[in-house]
Formats: sequence, structure tokens, C-alpha cells
Amino acid sequence: MVLDTDQDWRAHALCAQNDPDLFFAAGALEHKLAKTVCRRCPVRSECLSYAMEAPVDHGVWGGLTERERRRYRRRAPQGDWRTLLANSA
Ligand code: SF4
Repeated sequence: MVLDTDQDWRAHALCAQNDPDLFFAAGALEHKLAKTVCRRCPVRSECLSYAMEAPVDHGVWGGLTERERRRYRRRAPQGDWRTLLANSA
């Protein structure tokens, strides 16, 4: 497992300008709204990498819910979730 120890990207996180509860709510509407913010976020890739590798089990990170991240982690052959994610887009 490789952890991203450089977390300077957090200073550019668009979610920091929004209600943090939105990213940790369980509802489908909140997930949809949070993902809308993530799509415009300049550090989405860094955020998703961090959440996948750490791993982070709660909340929307990098535009994926916890359930979606778990699914990619589980299905990714040899931990290559990036390829799996790219092929499913
Ligand atoms: S991708 Fe989403 S959760 Fe990650 S830093 Fe950006 S806004 Fe926040």
C-alpha cells in the first residue's frame, strides 16, 4: 500500500468552501450534490487517490461514495483501481 503523504492538495479542496456535512451524509441527494462539487474540484484526482489508498471508509471523496470506492477496491485486479475506474467511465 502506498500512502500519499503530500497532502498540500487539501488546501485547494473545493469541499472546504461548502458544508462539510454534505460530504458525509448518507442520502442519495446529498451524494449527488457532493459529487457535483467534486466534478469541479481542481484536486479531485489527488483526493480520490488518497481516499482509495489510505483507505478512507466514510464520505464522498474524489467524487465517489464510500460504497463506490469499496466496489472499485474489491474488483480491481492487483489493486489497479485506476485502470478499472478509467475503463468504466
Ligand atoms: S474531490 Fe470532492 S471531496 Fe475531494 S477535495 Fe475535491 S471537493 Fe473535496
